[in-house]
Amino acid sequence: MLSVQMEQWVNLKFLIKLGKTFTEKCTGINVYPAHKFLNGLNGLKRDVKRPKTPGWPSTPKKDENIEKSALVISGTPPIRLQIKERARTYGKDEDAKRQEKEETIRKWQREWEDTVEVGQWTKRLIPNVATWTNRKHGNVDYYLTQMLSGHGCFAAYLHKFALIESDICWYCQERDDTAHTFLHCIRWTRERTIVETAIGETLSTENITNTMIDSKEGWDVIAQMAKGIISKKEEEERTRKRQLQGQE
Ligand SMILES: [Zn+2]
Repeated sequence: MLSVQMEQWVNLKFLIKLGKTFTEKCTGINVYPAHKFLNGLNGLKRDVKRPKTPGWPSTPKKDENIEKSALVISGTPPIRLQIKERARTYGKDEDAKRQEKEETIRKWQREWEDTVEVGQWTKRLIPNVATWTNRKHGNVDYYLTQMLSGHGCFAAYLHKFALIESDICWYCQERDDTAHTFLHCIRWTRERTIVETAIGETLSTENITNTMIDSKEGWDVIAQMAKGIISKKEEEERTRKRQLQGQE
């Protein structure tokens, strides 16, 4: 039977990495809940035993790439690049500091482009770290984190970690990954239509984050969609599990 603890662990893995990013970083893009999660979850982490799942895909390389996605989503250059930048700018004037900051972003962009194996969904949504990081508005909340990372309440994701028996959508029999949930699934047509009416075009991987970055209204309408879909999915998943348990 599926274990709630196992599911908690899967979500913890990504969120803790995102939280770690927050504690490491010195300046403040307000990416919500990760740090709040971290406080609450430190206790949970002690209680949650890591499951012995044959398909558990944790490797140092994958962990490193998951961390790269978390850093891009939170808008934080890798600490290694930040330290190098600090060394290069020691004693320099403001102009030189600005140039070195731009150089850090260029290096970060190259590393992001070279990231393989995981993070490809995030890379499609956020191809350019500078454009994303330099936006003037918008906090990444719990629901947007799931949408941007692909780590969350998606059948294909949960199935990959052997947490559910199938990667098929609970509503329409297609494979349920992040793109399916937000761009295609008929269950979420109403939520999607609200966004599409607001932006005047069909929602796609190409325009999701552009809409968010272009205006606060655009950010908010996507954030509302993500919250509406994910919160309902999580609720329905809990109901579905209770029903399955009742059948045993
Ligand atoms: Zn579906």
